[in-house]
Amino acid sequence: MVDNLYKKILLSDRLALSKAITLIESTKLNDRNKSEKLIKKLYKKSGKSLRIGISGSPGVGKSTFIETLGMFLTNKNYKVAVLAVDPSSKRSGGSILGDKTRMSELSTRKNAFIRPSPSGGELGGVSRRTRESMILVEAAGYEIILIETVGVGQSETEVAEMVDIFLVLLQPSSGDELQGIKKGIIEIADLLVVNKEDEFKDEATRTIADYKNALSLLKKDENSLNKEIVKCSALKKTGINEIWKIILNFKDLGNKKGWIKEKRSKQLEKWIWDDLQKNIFEKIKGNKKLVSELVKLQKKVSDNKISPTEASKKILHHYTKNNKS
Ligand code: GDP
Repeated sequence: MVDNLYKKILLSDRLALSKAITLIESTKLNDRNKSEKLIKKLYKKSGKSLRIGISGSPGVGKSTFIETLGMFLTNKNYKVAVLAVDPSSKRSGGSILGDKTRMSELSTRKNAFIRPSPSGGELGGVSRRTRESMILVEAAGYEIILIETVGVGQSETEVAEMVDIFLVLLQPSSGDELQGIKKGIIEIADLLVVNKEDEFKDEATRTIADYKNALSLLKKDENSLNKEIVKCSALKKTGINEIWKIILNFKDLGNKKGWIKEKRSKQLEKWIWDDLQKNIFEKIKGNKKLVSELVKLQKKVSDNKISPTEASKKILHHYTKNNKS
């Protein structure tokens, strides 16, 4: 099965790609083993795309924007893949991104591949699944990956940490609301895009002026392009060309100066640490002896005999003692 998927993905077979992503999303041990094998084989073929993260609050126009940008790019003969990172878990009652019929035009394009976000699943598994899906679509020859996420909480940071360039879409807002400029957004974004300029012309101009002001106060980062803010209408398809030019400029300069390579190598380092952390944690949780030891220690912690830190150190000590190579 793995060999078959491997061959077909390299031929850019979309059905095989979908199946492989489903395998990656599965938490069954057997499927995990298969998907690990597949990733191992395909990893050498990955890494050649431009990875673009797109974030923004619900309703700001993310799916409209991705549809418009995606059509623009497929018209230029790029192969475009769209992945989604949806932070909503089963507990919070369904997905924010996945429920609507989205990107209906782009999804009919031959050189576009759209993968709706999996509905829920364990938190924290989201990054792994997206990173691995990225490897698959790259191996299948997709040149541009658009990774969509909702601008709330942790998922935004997670996506920023796996892409080359991060776009944040903003709603045009009137003066009063602008007090809410979020410093976090400015820090995380490489490019800010005020959408819906067709409907909110004055507000868009004002929002740009205010953010420009905030951006000018930022300390300049020598290892990246200066952050920019532009406006567009995803609905009326204006401003898209300019946005693409900025992205290309970012890519060309980033490659020339080595920023993108450096960014990716930091991201990979983080991936290794994340994986290590998860694996050690799972090993401890799956070890009956250690768990029963932990229950005993927990009692001592509750009785104020030892501190939680002491307890965790003891567990770690037992773990390393039993795993000496
Ligand atoms: P998402 O929740 O961020 O994915 O937002 P959607 O793409 O679903 O858009 C939310 C609403 O805003 C929809 O009714 C869109 O038609 C509308 N919308 C999106 N982009 C624009 C735009 O550029 N101009 C205007 N006037 N409306 C837009």
